[in-house]
Amino acid sequence: MSVTTTPGRATPNDDGRIGLTVLGATGTIGVNTLDVVARHPGRYKIVALTANHQVERLYQQCLAHQPEFAVLAESAAAEKLEQKLRKHGLNTEVLAGIGGLEQVARLPQAHYVMAAIVGAAGLAPTLAAARAGKRILLANKEALVMSGQIFMDEVKANNAELLPIDSEHNAIFQCMPNTQNINLDVIGVKRILLTASGGPFRDVPLETLSRVTPEQACAHPNWVMGRKISVDSATMMNKGLEVIEACWLFATRPAFIEVVVHPQSIIHSMVQYADGSVLAQLGNPDMRTPIAHALAWPDRIDAGVDNLDIFSVAHLDFSRPDYSRFPCLRLAIEAIEQGGTCSAILNAANEVAVQAFLDHQILFTQIASIIEQTLAAVASTPATSIEVIMDADNAARLCAQQLVERFSSTFRGHVH
Ligand code: NAD
Ligand code: MG
Repeated sequence: MSVTTTPGRATPNDDGRIGLTVLGATGTIGVNTLDVVARHPGRYKIVALTANHQVERLYQQCLAHQPEFAVLAESAAAEKLEQKLRKHGLNTEVLAGIGGLEQVARLPQAHYVMAAIVGAAGLAPTLAAARAGKRILLANKEALVMSGQIFMDEVKANNAELLPIDSEHNAIFQCMPNTQNINLDVIGVKRILLTASGGPFRDVPLETLSRVTPEQACAHPNWVMGRKISVDSATMMNKGLEVIEACWLFATRPAFIEVVVHPQSIIHSMVQYADGSVLAQLGNPDMRTPIAHALAWPDRIDAGVDNLDIFSVAHLDFSRPDYSRFPCLRLAIEAIEQGGTCSAILNAANEVAVQAFLDHQILFTQIASIIEQTLAAVASTPATSIEVIMDADNAARLCAQQLVERFSSTFRGHVH
């Protein structure tokens, strides 16, 4: 079988390498991306790296990858980084703030943009990458959850490429014909089976859920991830966000997506076809696999991932999700079915509630209550523009924050 050696449609830089901007370089996905890239120095060149506040970590990454640009959220941190880099003789240009993020997402020498900022903060630069017609490696599911239709329209209008990094969506993509333009009806897809590990609280007695700590919630049985997505996995909001993400990526509806609890996280998702075939993608739970896949697509490159030992896995289990244990999953599915700015409201309320839980302000079980009450209080409207979506996001954050304050007084009562 012949394998194409042209990575996507990108015209490489003068040195024959593909330029890459990594948004959220210091996070779990960012670090895994740099690990894969370092294995292929002749193929990829890091053009820009960004982080929120982590000066030291970004500095170390700049030393290792010598990007043209580095971006931090605040100018004081950016100045600190610049001083450190100059001392070391590196002339990486350091930028600050959202303008800097958008600028490095648009650079002509950056053919690919890894969108790995967590939460709504990633929307503007990811959208900038879409408008600049980049290959977007999409980890930042919240961006798509917030702005689904607008984001997909921008991808299409600007001839951008969108490759999913989320392991389930990457698996689904791999189980479909190898093209960007997929119509599920035309290719005979009957159902998408979206797998979920069920997180660390899949089997704990229901009455103990209100007492779980952020540390327990962040100790995922199979995956090492940032704290926000770890809590999302524990509430199964992560799977809810992924149902919404799949609806946009594969132009479908929740009714075509079945969530399957699969505790081993070896099958990363499946696609059922009209002829009865079910295609699955299997692998060790290691994010370097989808990252390497999306970087090299339609080629395949080494990701540094151990071979799957199917004999030591031995058993693959499947069950239906328990919607009473995981109300966040139900809320997310209801939000995408309702449409408009509902998903943006859900996402914003979730971000506020998860942060409050991580800060020991509310109980684990109050995350779902805050989201449900925010969805009831903030009116959804048609998501006609990014401004409308950001207004809904702001209104939901305000409402959720008030609920956090109300709940946190009872929380303090609970612990003392
Ligand atoms: P993380 O918390 O480890 O890293 C987040 C990155 O974003 C960091 O570099 C941080 O500095 C940056 N960041 C955070 N807030 C920012 C802000 N306001 N402005 C600019 N930069 C900011 O998160 P992660 O686990 O790497 O996840 C990143 C994204 O990928 C999330 O959207 C998550 O849902 C998605 N994702 C992660 C995994 C995983 O295995 N970690 C799997 C699938 C999808
Ligand atoms: Mg996932």
